[in-house]
Amino acid sequence: MPIRLYDSLTRSLRELQPGEKDGVFRFYNCGPTVYAPAHIGNFRTFVVNDVLRRLLELEFGPAKVKHVRNLTDVDDKTIRRSREERRPLEAVTKQWTDKFHADCDALNCLRPHVEPTATGHIQEQIDMIDVLMKKGNAYRAADGSVYFKVSSFDGYGRLSRVKERELQVGSALAGKSQAVDADEKEDATDFALWKAHKPDDGVNSWNSPWGTGRPGWHIECSAMSKKHLGETIDLHTGGVDLLFPHHENEIAQSECCNGTPFSRHWYHSEHLLVDGKKMSKSLGNLYTLDDLKAKGFSPLALRYALIAGHPRKQLNFTLESLHAAESALKKLQVIVTVFHDPKYRVAGNGTPSRLGEVLGHLRDDLNTPAALGSLFKLGHEISCGIGGGPTDADVATLDQILGVLGLEATKLNTLAAAPKAEAPDDIKALAEKRWAAKASKDFAAADTLRKELATAGWSMLDRKDGYSLEPLKK
Ligand code: AMP
Ligand code: ZN
Repeated sequence: MPIRLYDSLTRSLRELQPGEKDGVFRFYNCGPTVYAPAHIGNFRTFVVNDVLRRLLELEFGPAKVKHVRNLTDVDDKTIRRSREERRPLEAVTKQWTDKFHADCDALNCLRPHVEPTATGHIQEQIDMIDVLMKKGNAYRAADGSVYFKVSSFDGYGRLSRVKERELQVGSALAGKSQAVDADEKEDATDFALWKAHKPDDGVNSWNSPWGTGRPGWHIECSAMSKKHLGETIDLHTGGVDLLFPHHENEIAQSECCNGTPFSRHWYHSEHLLVDGKKMSKSLGNLYTLDDLKAKGFSPLALRYALIAGHPRKQLNFTLESLHAAESALKKLQVIVTVFHDPKYRVAGNGTPSRLGEVLGHLRDDLNTPAALGSLFKLGHEISCGIGGGPTDADVATLDQILGVLGLEATKLNTLAAAPKAEAPDDIKALAEKRWAAKASKDFAAADTLRKELATAGWSMLDRKDGYSLEPLKK
């Protein structure tokens, strides 16, 4: 079964295949702006893309996937941070690039094969703008800024269907660094390719045929994708907020400049909400990985929580969902232990047609929750003695699946080996009472006792043959 993934351009599920004869799958994922720590919403997008990358590698072979993810290291936010902190732009962006790398490593995300920066590709961006000027798709405004002329590209709006909505000046067009200066533009919908130097930019300016300034945000992805993957790529991804205007503008620039289709497939994952709301500092619901580590959660639990929902649906993150993720990881670890234990191994046809089901879900529009669901059904069947034991091939397949999810046996085992807090005697006594209530099917009493335990800061994880006690994180 091939991988099918929703394509935002055609609004349909389409097969993923490399387009070039060399069989290399060319994959571009818009990266972070490096001016502050990435939040867990950003990491939802990056973890989902990591699962996708791993699945592509399983499908086409590791050497046949080329993954490029950029770093936005010059824009309004990075420059403002550098100004506020009175530090060179490079010092700010290096600090947050290093932090981003450390967080990605902790979340077990593979590094992209190429991680280009906007400041490292100024000439490539100027070259593209130059072609757009020569072809009549761009114009220089009086202040030296260069704008893309949206009316010069018939295909504008195909991705986001923006023409079906009202095109609004300002708010709708505001992107990463899209300060709109309507006076300079011929049309409100035009967007900046090159931004003329302003005093606030300080030393962060480059020479160009149109005067000193810096590139607009959108052009960096067109230029870096062209340089590292070629004019037509196989897949371009990002969070839904990038659909418009960022990706719409990337298509316009690239297709007008190169005269070829830009990307054969577009995939956008949905946003993460926290406690049912959009994340924001003022609401106090913006978490970084460090915030969650400080509460005692493991990065792997966050990884699990971020893939526990369908990537194309909004996911509501709560601290409760992280507790659930930790319990789920423990159950997974039990499955892994059984599979890896030679005493359960059988020859010939073993259990798990379920394993094929798991991979099928992943290949079917990256349905991670359904894949995890099938894995747990497998765990249940094993604990109930349904089906035979795994064969050698099953064990290899399970390892492959865990590799795609980025929840490898070695990682799960490390978590399981982490020292556990010992519950005090009064908590143990409460737990015993609850276990007895459950055994005698007095579920109301068992529920009340679970709440008492939670109030005292403990959670009880039930298994078929017993239970364990875990301290609740604050
Ligand atoms: P930025 O650094 O703002 O360009 O964002 C980096 C990536 O994170 C982009 O692909 C965004 O679409 C994505 N992103 C931003 N906020 C969220 C969120 N709340 N949930 C999921 N992805 C997000
Ligand atoms: Zn981009």
